[in-house]
Amino acid sequence: MRFPLSLLCGMSRYMCWQKFFGKRKFPLVLMLEPLHACNLHCSGCGRIREYADTLSSRLLVEECVDSVLESGAPIVSICGGEPLIYPEIIELVDSTLRLGKHIYLCTNGQLLDTKLSEFCELSKINRRVKRRLYWNVHVDGTSRTHDLIVEKSGAFDIAMNGIMAAKRAGFFVYTNTTLYKQTSVDDLVELARILELAGVDGMMLAPGYGYDSVKVSEDNCNIFLTRSEICEKFREIRTRLKKFRITATPAFLDFLCGDRNLPCAAWANPTRNIKGWKSPCYLITDKHYETYDQFINSTDWSKIGFGKDPRCENCMMHCGYEPAAVLYANKITDLIRLAIWQIN
Ligand code: SF4
Ligand code: SF4
Repeated sequence: MRFPLSLLCGMSRYMCWQKFFGKRKFPLVLMLEPLHACNLHCSGCGRIREYADTLSSRLLVEECVDSVLESGAPIVSICGGEPLIYPEIIELVDSTLRLGKHIYLCTNGQLLDTKLSEFCELSKINRRVKRRLYWNVHVDGTSRTHDLIVEKSGAFDIAMNGIMAAKRAGFFVYTNTTLYKQTSVDDLVELARILELAGVDGMMLAPGYGYDSVKVSEDNCNIFLTRSEICEKFREIRTRLKKFRITATPAFLDFLCGDRNLPCAAWANPTRNIKGWKSPCYLITDKHYETYDQFINSTDWSKIGFGKDPRCENCMMHCGYEPAAVLYANKITDLIRLAIWQIN
C-alpha cells in the first residue's frame, strides 16, 4: 500500500461528510508552521527569507492546537522552518494526535536521529504515534546534489541516518524532493534506489517554483523550472521512475506531465504561521488573516491559479494542485486508477 489504510479511510470519511453537508471549500491538509527558524539555509527556501523579521518568534502550542481545531483539516503538516527545533514539538505532536488527526512531520532530517528517542518514548503513552505520524524528510538528490542545495557538507548522510533510524524504530517515512532546472533524472533514479534500500515508504517530487520570496539573485532565479520544463522533466520521470514509490496520484502526475488540466485548489491546503492565516496560498502572500474563517471567506479564490494571476504562471505545486487531483477525481476511470495505484 502506498499510504496507510487509516489515513485513506479517515480522509474518505471526512470528504464524504463535507460533501454530504454541501460544503464547497474545505481544508484537506493544514500547513502548520509553528516557527520559521531553521538549522539549514537552502538556496531555494522562501520561508527563511520571507519571514526573516520573525525568525525568532514561534506559535504557542495552544495557538497551534486552536488552529488545528479551527480549520478542522484531517491531516496536519507540521512544517516551518525546522519543526524539530521547536522546543515543544513533542507536546504539539501528542496534542494533535489526540485530536484524531494524522501528521506529516516535515523535517530536513538533521536532528531526526538525535530526537527520535523522544518520539519513541511518546509512542509508549500515545499509541497513535507510530500509526498516524509520518515523517517527511527533505532530500533534494543524492549526496553531492543535496549537500550543494542545502549548502551543508554531509547533510545528506545525516538525513539518511535519521531516515534509517526512523524505519528501524517502526515509523512511516516519506521523502520530499524539490526539482530544479539543474536536477538530473539520472540522479533522481539513483536517489530512488538509495531510498528504496533504506525502506522509505514513498517519495514526493515537487517542481520548484520561483515565487517572489525565493528569487533573491539572478543566479537564484535561474534554478526554477518553467511550466513547459516541468512537464518535460516529469514525462521523463514517469517513464524512468515507474517502478519506484512516487507519491503523486495518477491524476496529479498526468497534470505534472501536461496531459491534464486542473484548477488550483489552494483553499484546501491553508497555511497558519506566526503572522496568521496566509492568503492566498502556501507560496504567495497578499495578506495574513487573523482567523481561518476570514481567510477562507475573504480570499478571492476566483482570481488565483494558472491564467488568472501572473504569479501562478509557472506553479504546478502540490499545495495548489494535488488536492484538486483528489477532489475532482470523480470519473470512474480516475477512481479505478487511484485504487490500483494505492495498492500497487
Ligand atoms: S530545510 Fe526547509 S525550512 Fe530549512 S532552509 Fe531548507 S527549505 Fe528552508
Ligand atoms: S497556482 Fe495556486 S498554489 Fe500556485 S502560486 Fe498560484 S495560488 Fe499559489
